[in-house]
Amino acid sequence: MKGNTTRLLVCFTGVLAAILLAGASAGAAPQKELPRIVVLRCGRLLDVKRGTLERNQVIVVTGNTITAVGPAATVRIPESAETMDLSRATCLPGLADMHTHLIDDAEGYAVAGPLTRSGAQLAFSSIPHAQATLDAGFTSVRDVGTYRAFVDVALRDAINRGIVPGPRIQPAGAYVTITGGAGALTGLAPDVELPRELRFGVADGTDQVRQRVRDIIRNGAGMIKVLATGAVLTPGSTPGAQEFTEEELRAAVEEAKKAGLKVACHAHGAAGAKAAIRAGVASIEHGSYLDEEALQMMKERGVFFVADPYNSVAIYQNKSYLDEFMEKNRQTTEAQIRAFRRALELGVRIAYGTDAAVIPHGDNGRQFATYVELGMTPLQAIRTATTEAAELLGWSDRTGSIEPGKLADIIAVRENPLENIRTLEQVVFVMKDGKVFKNEK
Ligand SMILES: [Zn+2]
Repeated sequence: MKGNTTRLLVCFTGVLAAILLAGASAGAAPQKELPRIVVLRCGRLLDVKRGTLERNQVIVVTGNTITAVGPAATVRIPESAETMDLSRATCLPGLADMHTHLIDDAEGYAVAGPLTRSGAQLAFSSIPHAQATLDAGFTSVRDVGTYRAFVDVALRDAINRGIVPGPRIQPAGAYVTITGGAGALTGLAPDVELPRELRFGVADGTDQVRQRVRDIIRNGAGMIKVLATGAVLTPGSTPGAQEFTEEELRAAVEEAKKAGLKVACHAHGAAGAKAAIRAGVASIEHGSYLDEEALQMMKERGVFFVADPYNSVAIYQNKSYLDEFMEKNRQTTEAQIRAFRRALELGVRIAYGTDAAVIPHGDNGRQFATYVELGMTPLQAIRTATTEAAELLGWSDRTGSIEPGKLADIIAVRENPLENIRTLEQVVFVMKDGKVFKNEK
């Protein structure tokens, strides 16, 4: 106790000295540096909230924040502003992918793949994945799991500190899954003992689920990912089969809620999805076999459907996958397309998620065209990755639209995406947090 008081005193004296020193130097030196002001001149600007495309718009960015938006003729431009010419492009808010695995790549889904690389190797190899994602115009992502726990948390922290470029990440930390479940490493001999970080989120029973979720939160996760049913790319797993019970899922949601975090739930089968919806998850990932009742429940409770129909193409093209994966992919894709169309008719909230890692990182924008082919208008498709995604992230006060007060996450494409959705596959300008990461004329 006494030691603490002494340390506090020393510390307090130190702070006082620092304040005095700062005061003294402030008197002599010029005033504190003002935040940099950047003005973007946009030929067209997509207002995703109103659904309108405005011409000749100006966005004023002060530091990392948008401070003004409007017609070039009316917005007052501060004298010190630096101008960026995007007069031949369409500006829109930075995009967000709700289902990425930035640490992994397709090779990681080979049987025992995660055993072949260390955490350090994964961390380094994830750097180009993060860069490619940002380059593709995705300024925010949810990273919904890595087999080696917390590499995604480390990547988030490195990006936030400016050590490596990448999107703003809400990381899951580890998969919360039953023993031998969809998020576990399967296909190994029964006597193989895995190190803790390769089975960090494995839990059976409500007590273990609570403990694992608390451990994952304590280690820096920004969201929780639970797996309620089997999976396509897990050996021996049946996508339609329920894994966690409703009680286990509820325990996960309760623990996450206490820490202010949301829960994303991997579910192909309807029974597992319904258990998760009743338990209070924020989103259903994949949702291949969602039936009428499940979709109605989601609509009622505002649960998001994170649909990833584009990734089936990448799975078909990967020749190294097991035959088992191919067959499950065929079944779940056909079913997911039916569920997606019905969800659209019912007005279930849909958020953009690609399962990047299964598709190459940086190809995230290619799914917009799939959403449109399956019945969305281009504007609806864009909203899944802007306003809707921001809502699911719990970041609508900061991201998802270009408005004063929001973070300066702004991208530009060459054409009008309402006329040609595929222009989103070639983003020419990326600003995140007020910093320009890409500017191709
Ligand atoms: Zn996934």
